[in-house]
Amino acid sequence: MQDILREMADVVRDPFAYGRKLKADTGKKIVGYVCTYAPEEMILAAGAHPLRLFGTTGTVERADAHLQSYCCSLVRGVLEEGLKGGTDFLDGMVFPHTCDSIQRLSDLWRMNVTQGFHFDAVLPVKLDTQSARQYMIDVLNRFRTDLERELDCSITDDNLHKTIRLMNEIRLLLRRIYELRSDQPGLMTGDSLYTIVKATMIMDRERVREVLQKVVEKMEAARLSSEEGAGSQGSDFKSVPATKRLLMAGGICNQPQIHDMIEAAGGAVIWDDFCTGSRYFETLVSTDKDPIRAIADRFLQRAVCPAKHAGLRNRAEDLIRMAHERKARGVIFLYLKFCDPHAFDYPYLKAALDQEGIPSLLLEVEDPLPAEGQLQTRFEAFLEML
Ligand code: SF4
Ligand code: SF4
Repeated sequence: MQDILREMADVVRDPFAYGRKLKADTGKKIVGYVCTYAPEEMILAAGAHPLRLFGTTGTVERADAHLQSYCCSLVRGVLEEGLKGGTDFLDGMVFPHTCDSIQRLSDLWRMNVTQGFHFDAVLPVKLDTQSARQYMIDVLNRFRTDLERELDCSITDDNLHKTIRLMNEIRLLLRRIYELRSDQPGLMTGDSLYTIVKATMIMDRERVREVLQKVVEKMEAARLSSEEGAGSQGSDFKSVPATKRLLMAGGICNQPQIHDMIEAAGGAVIWDDFCTGSRYFETLVSTDKDPIRAIADRFLQRAVCPAKHAGLRNRAEDLIRMAHERKARGVIFLYLKFCDPHAFDYPYLKAALDQEGIPSLLLEVEDPLPAEGQLQTRFEAFLEML
């Protein structure tokens, strides 16, 4: 099992090296994307590989000539990599219509990073209207023909059904891993969990299905042996002696190491509302209808990001439901600095949690993280209060 975790950690550490190697080994076209509203099933059905970009681990220099410093570090980091040639192995990029920063990133990419094709998937913003569904279907149909033209392929319904099944299996496996860890946080560290989720969005999806199956088997075996009184002995996972159960919410968890600090302070994140977490795997694509309609319906029904709208209170209701279902004692909002959509939602989410008596903590971070001591102190103070 350590081999699997190491494999996934290596992928997360250098996703571009992984993408280059995958392309050289398989000859597959690699399509970059920046947001979970990109229709991965369609890219896979075109015989290409969807690879999510998570910014940069280096310093941002070139991107500062194009973007204000008050753009989130994810967008600045992605542009930096594009400008300095880190993404030159990509055959194309897909920019779903979400927050303003991603839309501007799309414009800058089109003008300055010229390799490969460039798609804006202009999905509807308001998702709860009569016309949103037809609009979503029309956009996805157009995306299908654009992809076919650019990749010189035919995206058949049969292939779409296959890739829908593959992605559904991956989503179910991720959900199972979350559930096992929620039942018994000691089974796996948060750092390993978030590394697994991030690697899922980068690695070959057939391989992902294989390794996630193994992770689930190992976790189930470790749970069984701990129920039988063997403790964590014989487990392949570095376990965490969790005491206080927490929920995390925000856009992207780009810093799995944040979990080490939370765990050192005596807590464990047992569920989340992240686009690098439950929003990625919750809600399956229906397998008994036209595939494009089914993909459109998932986008309309899945947990919504604040860059989209599907009712005034649904995000707060989801968060409160999750906190109760998962018996969380508090919520940590982890936002990237300058992320407006999440920042605008925060006051009403906090007020809704306050009303329910659920304590919360707001952290705004950037890549790279500030000195460990500052965050550690805030986690300790919050956990002490719970
Ligand atoms: S938070 Fe939502 S809108 Fe923002 S990058 Fe993630 S999936 Fe896209
Ligand atoms: S972190 Fe916020 S501002 Fe940045 S890309 Fe995601 S939703 Fe947009």
